[in-house]
Amino acid sequence: MTIYRSSKGNFEQHEEVEIFTDKYVSNVNGIASFTATGNKYFGAPGKPPVNTITNVVVEFRTKQTGYNGEFGFDWLRIDDGALTTEKAYEVCIEGGYEAPNGKAPHRDTNTSFETGEAFKALQKEYKQIVIARTSTTSKKYYVPWLNLFPKPVSDSTVVSTGPKPPFEAELRMLIDVEGTDPPDQIRIAFDAKYFTIDGKDGTDRNPVLIMDKIIGAKREVPSTIKITCIDEFSVDQEIKVYSYPKDSLSKPLATQMVLRKLAGKIIVGANKNTSKIGKTPAVNNRKTQKIVLVKVKTNINGVIGGDITGVFTPREKVNLQNALYQALIFGDIKDKDSSGRDIILDVTADINFKAGGKYISGGGILRTEPTLNTYMRTLINANTANAYIDCFYVFMFGINDSSNRVGGRVEDIGKKSVVLYKGRDNFTLNHEVLHGLSLYHTHADGVVDKPNQKYVYTHANVDSTKATDNIMSYQPDGKTSWYWQWKIIRKNV
Ligand SMILES: [Zn+2]
Repeated sequence: MTIYRSSKGNFEQHEEVEIFTDKYVSNVNGIASFTATGNKYFGAPGKPPVNTITNVVVEFRTKQTGYNGEFGFDWLRIDDGALTTEKAYEVCIEGGYEAPNGKAPHRDTNTSFETGEAFKALQKEYKQIVIARTSTTSKKYYVPWLNLFPKPVSDSTVVSTGPKPPFEAELRMLIDVEGTDPPDQIRIAFDAKYFTIDGKDGTDRNPVLIMDKIIGAKREVPSTIKITCIDEFSVDQEIKVYSYPKDSLSKPLATQMVLRKLAGKIIVGANKNTSKIGKTPAVNNRKTQKIVLVKVKTNINGVIGGDITGVFTPREKVNLQNALYQALIFGDIKDKDSSGRDIILDVTADINFKAGGKYISGGGILRTEPTLNTYMRTLINANTANAYIDCFYVFMFGINDSSNRVGGRVEDIGKKSVVLYKGRDNFTLNHEVLHGLSLYHTHADGVVDKPNQKYVYTHANVDSTKATDNIMSYQPDGKTSWYWQWKIIRKNV
């Protein structure tokens, strides 16, 4: 709710004065009531007018090439025509989890959405703004979610592997202008305490302008923007786009503020951590997940020169860091011991890892054996005096498993223990770790009956063009994650 302050009969409003001025005047004569002495507040200023988007629409997207999941950006994929390769989610979504209940309008007792319900629920994962104009197919603007770390935090973070936390996001923009006159100006507004865009503070002296403002259908703006988070904040921030209608720029500044129209928005997630003060609990908007990468050394035939040690690739470690950064989580990856040596678990003398043993088939491949993860955890803890007991465990074998198509296995959904095999790719590690942090696949593996299976899409093996590029899909190079997934992951870190 917007707060208005009374001072000797003059009213001030704390935000968006330009939009609500008339409203509060009518409230003074109407339903307004005062609930405090000293500084006076309206108890019920009435509903603020709904912000709508009208003749100019600016949407934000990641770059089609050059974005590899380095920061978290989630938007509801709609039909961008040829401007975005991904299909609209309305045509890809197949279902999702819905708690059974006996109340209208959902009298069903199953755990799945009925036809059409999943997309309706998915839309609600995004803040929406009405697009109030006739010549548009979409009547709603879905505000995207962006996660960035503050630059000072990123700068001071020591990473053992992979990139530092992202504090910058380069985004492309799609613009659509209708009407008879192009706007005087399209400008991006944001809090200069927390951001710069293209190195500018966005003030009247250094405005951030979108130069493409001609009338026409949706197209890509020729230039991208680079948003830099320069300081941390405790509440979500909004980056807004305004269009200034024809002849408005010749008016006084206060009038311009009234005349300008919202054209787009991004919400940037709160990224400040605060300590406990008195009874106010600590807040961790940025989280840390410790992860230990263990190389497993085997010699399944017991021959000299037969040692095989698993190897982590630089790219899979980067992909893992990025996947966590998307949810504002720092993956504190430990791939060296306290002496700076690789962390190696030597099982060359363990009979369970000999051909024909408990975990290795006669053919020399790992058996699909449900106790493998727990056994590995027991071994590493014993060998290291529990040095990594608070970590997410990742064990890397240099040999394949019984199904060459499987690159790795999580102990269970929500269990922080993963084994990886030789026949994986650079997108197995991040996928399996997110399973360990409680994410399910983004397609149905059977009956959808777990609350965390919130939405499921077409299986990549059925139609890869409708399978999304989510890390939890079976796309060979899935790189993105979504706002609703960030909430699940963060609860389990
Ligand atoms: Zn999986």
